[in-house]
Amino acid sequence: MRLLLATRSADKAREIAGILADAWPGAPRIVTLEERGVTWTEAEEGLEPFDTFEENAASKARYFADLTGMPTVADDSGLEVDALGGRPGVRTRRFAPPDMYPGLDQDEANNRHLLVRLDGVPPARRGARYVCVACLVVPPSGTSVHFRGEAPGRIRSRPRGSGGFGYDPIFEDHLTARSYAELNAEEKNERSHRGKAFRALARHLALTPPTLGGDGEA
Ligand code: IMP
Repeated sequence: MRLLLATRSADKAREIAGILADAWPGAPRIVTLEERGVTWTEAEEGLEPFDTFEENAASKARYFADLTGMPTVADDSGLEVDALGGRPGVRTRRFAPPDMYPGLDQDEANNRHLLVRLDGVPPARRGARYVCVACLVVPPSGTSVHFRGEAPGRIRSRPRGSGGFGYDPIFEDHLTARSYAELNAEEKNERSHRGKAFRALARHLALTPPTLGGDGEA
């Protein structure tokens, strides 16, 4: 069985392939957009306009399933910060406004922006959670199913560690009090929002493997 992974993020793709392989030896072979020859177009920028992770993940998965005829999984993920009323949520990727932090890339600017917004907030009120929703869409019927994973933690006042990606240096695991950037890949996958969502997807696929259609045929 082959499963198209609808993400342009190499970090997400690496984590998801590892999670699925560890969860289930018979896991489907993951095919990336690049391997399937799906080149980037402007239309992809408009695939996540919704206010829920579920709708955005479904929108991405459906778009690429329609394009390729392959069973497709997409994830939408983000960070909900208690002191910000659950923001940035579905707007996590573009949290820092453009040009606000010259010289920093988007991830660095996002982290800086979050630390600035939480300046002066005491440790007890810095609770947060990572959220990941994986959506599987299976052509030709287009049926879809969602899997949500959440990982509780806290926003540190300073970055620490060099692993992971995105907000990991400032997101502290609630059990070990280490930042996600201090966890190795296995430890992160064991605890993370993405690990939980994609292990649930693996369980679903093991029980009900999708019938492939079109040129998605293995
Ligand atoms: P999207 O899912 O592509 O819309 O973007 C998710 C946003 O959340 C990006 O800014 C990611 O860097 C961030 N994010 C999602 N999952 C993680 C994670 O596991 N570690 C760090 N940042 C993450």
